[in-house]
Amino acid sequence: MKSMYDLDVPIPSKKAHIVRNIKEVSQAQRETLLKETEYSMFSFPADMLILDFLSDSGTSTMTDLQWAAILLGDESYGRNRGYYILLDAIRDTFERGDQQKKVINLILSGETNVDRLMNELYLTSFEGGFVNGGVHQLKRPNAFLVPQGRCAEYLLFSTIAPLLKRNNPKDVFYIPNNGHFDTTEANIRANGFQPVNFFSNNLLEDFPVEKISLKNPFKGNMDVDGLKKFIESKGVGTIPLIYLTITNNTAAGQPVSMKNIKEVRDVANKFDIPLFLDACRYAENAYFIKEFEQGYKNKSIPTIIMELFSYVDGFTISFKKDGLANMGGGLFFRDQGVFHRKFSEDGDIGIKLKERQILIFGNDSYGGLSGRDIMALAAGLYEVVKESYLKERITQVRDFATKLSHNGVPVVLPPGGHAIYINVDKFFAGTDMKINDFGGVGFAIELLRYYGIRACELGPFAFEWDNKTPKEREGILNLIRFAIPRNVYNTDHIDYAVAAVTELYNNKEKIPKVKISRGAKLRLRHFQSGLQPIYK
Ligand SMILES: *Cc1c(COP(=O)(O)O)cnc(C)c1O
Repeated sequence: MKSMYDLDVPIPSKKAHIVRNIKEVSQAQRETLLKETEYSMFSFPADMLILDFLSDSGTSTMTDLQWAAILLGDESYGRNRGYYILLDAIRDTFERGDQQKKVINLILSGETNVDRLMNELYLTSFEGGFVNGGVHQLKRPNAFLVPQGRCAEYLLFSTIAPLLKRNNPKDVFYIPNNGHFDTTEANIRANGFQPVNFFSNNLLEDFPVEKISLKNPFKGNMDVDGLKKFIESKGVGTIPLIYLTITNNTAAGQPVSMKNIKEVRDVANKFDIPLFLDACRYAENAYFIKEFEQGYKNKSIPTIIMELFSYVDGFTISFKKDGLANMGGGLFFRDQGVFHRKFSEDGDIGIKLKERQILIFGNDSYGGLSGRDIMALAAGLYEVVKESYLKERITQVRDFATKLSHNGVPVVLPPGGHAIYINVDKFFAGTDMKINDFGGVGFAIELLRYYGIRACELGPFAFEWDNKTPKEREGILNLIRFAIPRNVYNTDHIDYAVAAVTELYNNKEKIPKVKISRGAKLRLRHFQSGLQPIYK
């Protein structure tokens, strides 16, 4: 309960150090820009926008500590200094809870004692966790840096596919998830596996707006019963990995509870299947656990993250999300764990992954990243777990959803950690907008045209409703996403967006239907086809 002198707003956790001016672009200029870019959100020049909610990926404003670390980046080809710092920052983040070593401070403080640098940074030896160190990383590599999340997915699935299919290339394998992200799903398919989703049964249930800071139904959870039945019906041998995405981006960015993670871990253990996290938003997910799950109120964010990762055998991650970095990704698996055992029958799987990593992304100590990126990321891992930051972040997302909801705009509640979603079917209720009129796209075009705000349709246009069978169409949600970049916007920006969306909602009958004017059948068409709004 709130007591006297307590405020129900978060304490500010940061202030601006450098600002960027927004250009004064007129509506007529935006109309020209829209026309010339075929009304495609992805083709519109970002510099001409007022607010950009297209993605939270790689769009964070970094902190002064990250920028300071960048100057200490080392662009050496082999074993740059940031490599050692980042590997230990990953151990700190995912395995050490509050017992962090922060060896980054040796470099940030200009340590010159060579013995100390050798003992504490360059020659330290680790084994048994997610990041072997010293000679163990050479003999049994288990940590792979790559430029972004999808590269880690590609590395993983393209390396295990030929191993699984060596006897019979026609064998069918399934990868279950609580909700595959689109690139994960695409990488799984491209390597000949079948992705399967086990969304939580309560995903589309209504939720009262006045309860959103009081409780959370963890709608990102995996349907564990569905998973169990699926494994039993298809046979354990057809399931090389189980995946769990935190937070569940595809399911409106909803969090996953610790209880659910443990239940999935129990299923994985029972069938001896490796459990991997798609861990992009681990810190935001940990904050939801702390805030809403019983037993976690008094635990620190790093402790919750440590517990969460103790239940899994490996993870792929895009550090462009919670890493607060603009670039970076990785693949990690537990030294001599289930994954290692299962996939090392004819040679160490880590060595195979490393060979592929070198072929595609360069030397394993930079993995397609510059030394500056590596330092920014290492520093970011310590910034993103600060509770004051996470509180402000999640509160901002919640505030955005609450204000829209109070204005009558149908948003998915409760909001997840990184984005708010408008329910397009409800938005256009009472108008003659049909699913194949792409109302969500029409809305996004008008939002950009009148107000210079970019959002993204994730519905019949993005998921290619018109190219699918009636059965396939059933799983398509009809949403517009506003992904909120980290540390970029403040209340003024959110209020401007809320006012703009509300104004369009109140004039929804004027929003145009949209035709796909070019490339309706193109692959990943929402990145590349041309559109035409039909104004009455
Ligand atoms: C962004 C994202 C990815 C892919 O990462 P990229 O860095 O964009 O390649 C994978 N999974 C989830 C859940 C994501 O949000």
